[in-house]
Amino acid sequence: MTNPVQPSNFIHDIINEDLKNNKNSSRVHTRFPPEPNGYLHIGHAKSICLNFGTAAKYHGLCNLRFDDTNPTKEDVEYVDSIKEDVKWLGFDWADRMYYASDYFARFYEYALQLIKAGKAYVCDLNAQQIREYRGTLTEPGKESPYRNRSVEENLDLFQRMKAGEFADGSRVLRAKIDMASPNVNMRDPVLYRISRAVHHRTGDTWCIYPMYDYAHPISDAIEGITHSICTLEFEDHRPLYDWVLQALEFERCPQQIEFARLNLTNTVMSKRHLRALVEEKKVNGWDDPRMPTISGLRRRGYTPEAIRDFCERIGVAKSNSTVDISLLEHCIREDLNSRAARVMAVLNPLKLVLLNYPENQVEELDAENNPENPDMGTRKIPFSRVLYIEKEDFMENPPKKFFRLAPGQEVRLKHAYIIKCEQVVKDEATGEIIELRCTYDPDTKSGGPASGRKVKGTLHWVSAAHALEAEVRLYDYLFKEESDDGNAVFNPHSLEVLTKCRVEPSLVKAVPGTRYQFLRQGYFNTDLDSRDKKLVFNRVVGLRDSWAKTQNKNNA
Ligand code: ATP
Ligand code: MG
Repeated sequence: MTNPVQPSNFIHDIINEDLKNNKNSSRVHTRFPPEPNGYLHIGHAKSICLNFGTAAKYHGLCNLRFDDTNPTKEDVEYVDSIKEDVKWLGFDWADRMYYASDYFARFYEYALQLIKAGKAYVCDLNAQQIREYRGTLTEPGKESPYRNRSVEENLDLFQRMKAGEFADGSRVLRAKIDMASPNVNMRDPVLYRISRAVHHRTGDTWCIYPMYDYAHPISDAIEGITHSICTLEFEDHRPLYDWVLQALEFERCPQQIEFARLNLTNTVMSKRHLRALVEEKKVNGWDDPRMPTISGLRRRGYTPEAIRDFCERIGVAKSNSTVDISLLEHCIREDLNSRAARVMAVLNPLKLVLLNYPENQVEELDAENNPENPDMGTRKIPFSRVLYIEKEDFMENPPKKFFRLAPGQEVRLKHAYIIKCEQVVKDEATGEIIELRCTYDPDTKSGGPASGRKVKGTLHWVSAAHALEAEVRLYDYLFKEESDDGNAVFNPHSLEVLTKCRVEPSLVKAVPGTRYQFLRQGYFNTDLDSRDKKLVFNRVVGLRDSWAKTQNKNNA
């Protein structure tokens, strides 16, 4: 199934209009501006695809800009991970990687300019007082007693703030706008604060740091950004964004456009929450395959193509909504369906002996690698007297319609023969079924002359003597339900590790990042922990496509 309707993108509508009117001399220049205070998540992927994708669509440019104006939370580890993730998603900033911190000197000069124009002042109220003076949504604010300081005094105090003469938090620089504005963001917002924090790039050069609402429009203007795309929570900040650009009389003014952030079911999406999961060790790091981070999805086995396809399908809208995670899963299934080789792996092995198969015989059977993609060719798989099948594929007392193996019942072994269960062997002490004794019908070899005989079930299997041992990690959602107060409840059973799996010998060449379809079990990715003789696989996603199901129902 492909996209029936092109998802709407109102930002492209705006740009089409701008191009028609020759606005910005018909340039399109966007930026992706992450704060390096955590790893990127799938929500950021939406923003990356939107910014880089829009630039590409209009033959424009997109910058990568680290919005690193808040030194206490930022770190180079995050810078490196962000670069890796953007590249991996398939985007290229060429030589346009910038840091807001590179503009610190210019932000400072612009602040002097605002002071000289009477548009900014140094205020000695503390944070608590500033909050009190700000008023509320229904009441106007009160003017600061420091609001009418002279330009000279403001210049002197601001320079001394920079020189480190005052204690952290003792003074701020504020824009002089309107304490009665219905928009609280316009009530003399803080532009600069004093903080003796060591910055990951500028060290202790600065003890004053600009606020986001001040630094962001200037950074955009400096870089010649035409369309500054951000999420909806900044909508009420847009008048301030525009005020800063006008007050500083920039010639080329970027336009801020807000879109709805991505929310996904069954997970959390803010860096703060994700960091808490890492720090509380509820997951094994930022790249834990259960995490909605790009590095987690990559390790899980998601492809950049599937993530880009997902971002395309969800579209870009102006109102918030929550996307069902089954759509993301649908996208990776669709991608891997044509790319991943089908192989056989038994997750919970049960021994099966073919009583009438010669003891030392081994047949090399032909198996297609991907029926969806004949170019992927075939391989040989060994078949012998002792096999493993999946425990859950056998039932001693099956219900009706159990088309797998049961006493006296026949099934086909994929790529091999029809077998019949003759005898069940149990552990005398525990009663556990430990072995099945079966017979095979030599006339039913797959692809052979009598292969047409039909039985209801087909099972996957491996040859015991040839199979490789593997560890398989199965994942469930991090959050499956909500508590009464509407908070997501962490799912303590989100990881299941199976250590006694057996996989067919062709997987000897699995290296981290190689993806497979394990027949009947889903798509799997070879994990980073796979090395030497140890094979570790992550289940990317099972085969049952609940998203496609609901779509088909809706279309019926
Ligand atoms: P978080 O709240 O998860 O920490 P953030 O907005 O603080 O995210 P930034 O590093 O500031 O993270 O984000 C960089 C860019 O990615 C911003 O333009 C932001 O609007 C965008 N972005 C962040 N989260 C989402 C999301 N869920 N959906 C779409 N875009 C997002
Ligand atoms: Mg942010």
